[in-house]
Amino acid sequence: MIGSAAFEVKGWCPGALRPMQSGDGLIVRIRPRSATFSPGELAVLANAARQFGNGHIDLTRRANLQIRGVSEASLPGLHDMVARLGLLDENADGEAVRNVMINPLAGIDPAEVFDIRPIGRELAHLLVSDKSLWALPSKFGFIVDGGGVLSLAQLRADVRVVAMAAGKDVAIAIGFETRAGTEWLGSTSPGDAASAAIEIGLAFIDVASREKRQRMRDLSGEGLASIRSAMRSRLGTLHENPPKADASLNRRIGLIELGEGRFAVGIAAPFGRLETDQLRKLVDVMAVHGVGEVRLSPWRTLYASVPSRRSGQSILDAAAGDGLITDPVDPLLQIEACPGAPGCQSTALDTRGDGRRLAALLPRFGFTGTVHVSGCAKGCAKSGSAELVLVGCDGRYGIVRGGTAGDHPAHHFSFAELAADPGNIFDIDEGSRHD
Ligand code: SF4
Repeated sequence: MIGSAAFEVKGWCPGALRPMQSGDGLIVRIRPRSATFSPGELAVLANAARQFGNGHIDLTRRANLQIRGVSEASLPGLHDMVARLGLLDENADGEAVRNVMINPLAGIDPAEVFDIRPIGRELAHLLVSDKSLWALPSKFGFIVDGGGVLSLAQLRADVRVVAMAAGKDVAIAIGFETRAGTEWLGSTSPGDAASAAIEIGLAFIDVASREKRQRMRDLSGEGLASIRSAMRSRLGTLHENPPKADASLNRRIGLIELGEGRFAVGIAAPFGRLETDQLRKLVDVMAVHGVGEVRLSPWRTLYASVPSRRSGQSILDAAAGDGLITDPVDPLLQIEACPGAPGCQSTALDTRGDGRRLAALLPRFGFTGTVHVSGCAKGCAKSGSAELVLVGCDGRYGIVRGGTAGDHPAHHFSFAELAADPGNIFDIDEGSRHD
């Protein structure tokens, strides 16, 4: 039996040059540039997943793509293929710190404040080219948010760079993450934004090396104060903070009307998992309809600008027919589930199969909250809290309401017991049941 403590906290993220060992082989993470792949690049990567791995492809919450089941023997061939696409960094240290997330519809969305791709590109370039930044922890991340229909305001990042309208101009608000949320430090021009973000990164390295911390929010008050005072004297006054996170500005699924006669599609993969054939078919149909770019997102949803409503609908129909999520009220969207067994050796539970079975129950009980199915207390699929958590321990699930996989469960059941009497889950909070 595998208990909840039987996991290894790795504390770093895999890359292409520094893959991570998992239960089903090596995980090789490919970081796109400006969150963008062409359909042709995705077709090559889909084929590579089968040729060099086990055909499983993950969309990650950092808007990257992972190829699973790679072996030591097949890794060099995969590296050659990724290098031919121009997606292999020069070294593992630079690759590890290139953690820049931008809006998935940047440059496409008429509602955005500013096309922030040049800032994202410059920031990524500085991170890989300045060796002094390679001391950043691999989980340390930057968000560069130009606003629009897919705002990144709800996501957490160590450093935040946000475009704001300032009359006819654009100001860039710069902030960092504290335990209480984002603290805004000041503003700068678009041309200076990447340099300002890098300076926060360098200041973090200085403080974190003394305090032995990995994330901005974990620094002491004194450590944060030293970064704050250095940056406040460097940045201009921020007259108004960027708007707070708005839950309606978040993952969008299906056909998205962007205005000005423009459309995009949002297509999610259940639990972020695609198979080689699914991805091949999707990018083939996108290419037929003239899609030139596919954007990755932190919601494990692929986005693409489409030429018309009709072509968007055709792409969505094809994706839905192949098991992908195109309906914004699909209950699978409520559920995060880690890979579980057999891919991970820390559990014997089929977390994703159980997640699918649970999804079928949610509408019946009118449960519209977030759900996290985790094979163990490590909670790989979701670090934040969910309204309902099923956390594996010794082949059974503990039930946590409004917490994380690391919280102490109130009740334990086998999934068979839960399926036989779903009230074991939903009766705990009568307010969420309406049958
Ligand atoms: S949370 Fe899931 S994937 Fe992560 S270690 Fe536990 S069982 Fe494995």
